[in-house]
Amino acid sequence: MAKKVAIIGAGVAGMMAAYRAAEGGAEVDLYDKNPNIGRKFVYVPWDYCELSHTGEIEDFMENYAHGAEFISYSLEKFNNKELVKFLKDLGINTITSEDGVISPENGDSELIQKAFYERLSEMGVSFCMSSKVQKILAKSKKIIGIYVHNLEKEYDKVIVACGGAARPKLGGSEDGFKLAEELGHTVIDAKPAVSPVDTEERLGKYLSGLKLPSVNVSVYSNQTKLMERSGSVLFTDHGLSGDTVLFLSGIISRLIENNKIELGIDIIPGITREELERKLKSEASLSNRNSVGEALKKYIPEKMLPVLPRYCRIHSSKPMNHITNLERKGLILFLKDMRITVKRVKPFFEAMYTSGGVDVVELNPKSMESKLIKGLYFCGEIMDVDGGVGGYNIHSAFASGHIAGKSAARGAKAKKAAAKKAENPAEDTSEKAKTSKKKKAARKKSAKKKTARKKKAAKKKSTGDDDNSSSKAVA
Ligand SMILES: Cc1cc2nc3c(=O)[nH]c(=O)nc-3n(C[C@H](O)[C@H](O)[C@H](O)COP(=O)(O)OP(=O)(O)OC[C@H]3O[C@@H](n4cnc5c(N)ncnc54)[C@H](O)[C@@H]3O)c2cc1C
Repeated sequence: MAKKVAIIGAGVAGMMAAYRAAEGGAEVDLYDKNPNIGRKFVYVPWDYCELSHTGEIEDFMENYAHGAEFISYSLEKFNNKELVKFLKDLGINTITSEDGVISPENGDSELIQKAFYERLSEMGVSFCMSSKVQKILAKSKKIIGIYVHNLEKEYDKVIVACGGAARPKLGGSEDGFKLAEELGHTVIDAKPAVSPVDTEERLGKYLSGLKLPSVNVSVYSNQTKLMERSGSVLFTDHGLSGDTVLFLSGIISRLIENNKIELGIDIIPGITREELERKLKSEASLSNRNSVGEALKKYIPEKMLPVLPRYCRIHSSKPMNHITNLERKGLILFLKDMRITVKRVKPFFEAMYTSGGVDVVELNPKSMESKLIKGLYFCGEIMDVDGGVGGYNIHSAFASGHIAGKSAARGAKAKKAAAKKAENPAEDTSEKAKTSKKKKAARKKSAKKKTARKKKAAKKKSTGDDDNSSSKAVA
């Protein structure tokens, strides 16, 4: 009998795992509660669908807020070049933007889904759609099957690729976490990630739609600085978004319940506080009748001037040479550390990803196999690995699916050959049998050569034309 693998979840991670497991010789059943494969993936807005990113493994590691170390092995084994090559083989060409984002060349949202469907069908994968897996079955800490449609089905291996809780309307749920917990796995509380934040300050009235492309954002928990991130910030109606905030949202999500979280935006990271102080002082020289607004327009968009009274208790029309030392310090603080208090991270309904999930401490990073249950594997968003925008999450789903599928199929070809041999003992097609056949043939060939050489030598001796023997004789 062939090695039977059940994959729960036909998102990016599940599709990739199915591909590798089938390629490795396993008999694969791909389950999804949705009626078709890759549903969430199809709904990723393709005008900016980010599949991966350029850069080396070290660059990738900086773009995971949690689980970077754990996922690094998968990312190395299935890196951005491998992914581009794999997609090309599926018939999907990719393009790379100036800022390094790798996207599909053709914006057709169903292209990758269709390509996977066709290839997996050719490989003999069975699609078990509209099938919600209710339970994973294990005995003596070893996988024995799954429970679906109120029936038990036997499997040698089970790969859990159920995704996370983001976007319930697209199939996001905590199903996978429950399945994992039932088997004894620890699940870190699932929280929204890659999600905008609402803020206490109501700045949207003035700043909504304003993007600051290159700022530094620091996260403070109860006044203690935890980390800093460079990139863009986008002011929204109720708070903040942009790649820095989306990246930090998973970290904030985990802290905000019990801590006061503030963001400090350094609007002009290229200028130090000291330099700025010197510049503002020179602006305030008596001969200079510039207003504060005129002076600050060199550093910030004009749209930001109306929030000055709130942050520095100073109006933008005030002449620079009338500002006090305290007011100048206030301006510096505003430009270098504009503090904004986070009210909440927008919930799963609006989030693009899940922070938290199956604790990776309980998984083997080189196989994605559970350390608790033999034959159980995890891949994709269900794991406690979260990346920022730029293709890092889809890439880690592909890469971990690649590893899980390959690992689950290990030994499948040998098992298939053994089953075939049992059916037809005369024809042993296992790798071992093939190698031993090859060795036998090589031995036969060398023995034949040896006999031929001996015969030739004997013939030469008898006819006396052996140079060696004659010279020896002379000696
Ligand atoms: C709007 C949006 C835009 C995004 N844009 C990007 C982007 O540009 N770049 C990027 O890197 N990431 C992006 N993401 C995140 C990306 O979609 C995810 O990282 C990725 O889909 C995760 O893949 P997955 O296979 O782990 O999970 P999913 O794609 O969520 O697949 C999990 C599947 O498991 C199924 N399932 C769950 N429980 C069961 C069960 N009990 N039985 C059977 N089936 C089950 C679900 O129906 C689902 O189909 C975006 C997400 C959203 C929502």
